[in-house]
Amino acid sequence: MVQRRPLVAANWKMNGTLATLRPLLAEVIAGLDDGAAEVALCPAFVYLAEVAAAVADSRIAVGAQNVSEYTYGAYTGEVSAAMLKDYNCRFVIVGHSERRNLYAETDAGVAARFRAAQAAGLTPILCVGETLAEREADATEAVVGRQLNAVLTAVDDFAGAVVAYEPVWAIGTGRTASPEQAQAVHAFIRGQLPAACRQQTRILYGGSVKADNAATLFAMEDIDGGLIGGASLDARAFLDICHAA
Ligand code: PGA
Repeated sequence: MVQRRPLVAANWKMNGTLATLRPLLAEVIAGLDDGAAEVALCPAFVYLAEVAAAVADSRIAVGAQNVSEYTYGAYTGEVSAAMLKDYNCRFVIVGHSERRNLYAETDAGVAARFRAAQAAGLTPILCVGETLAEREADATEAVVGRQLNAVLTAVDDFAGAVVAYEPVWAIGTGRTASPEQAQAVHAFIRGQLPAACRQQTRILYGGSVKADNAATLFAMEDIDGGLIGGASLDARAFLDICHAA
């Protein structure tokens, strides 16, 4: 039986300003125990330097919320993987449903971002997940399988990467997948991964994870931590979630 170290990653999205994020950051750093779970904070690009400096002496890692598929050049507004490395990022979220749905990122584009992250030595957190209409049409496995496959077929090696299953209908809605619903999709995802890294790959759950539902979700066999949006903006709630993993 392979032991997978749980990972809890905060996705701050486009929330807060220095006035609110500084106290949040200080409280998370001060309150984190030296428990089992790996913990990462993913602020907006402009706050990476601030967060990286603040967590330098802690066990907290830094991640970004997106990365360009290109290495450098005339891509106004984009940020490269090498730039993220400059700020000590370890992780980068790729293919978040908000990027796919609001900014038209395609499966192929997500795969290219994933490759760019990997090539620079970053750990991609690949987000996959179905919409409510897709779930109701019984298409969850078809959609998640397609999103996953687009990346699996584009890379030589998936080992070390992280997957986040985030049902779109559960993101920011207060409506969480039940532990059983999430576990079923996590087991499906694990079954799709290459045999060589199937058991080691961490699969996070994301979608309205809160302090009071984290422990039951994280107790499921194939749920290896969480990607936390709303609750990560509340230090107490985020710390409780980290300590539940
Ligand atoms: P939520 O967001 O926890 O606010 O549902 C999760 C995410 O989008 O990563």
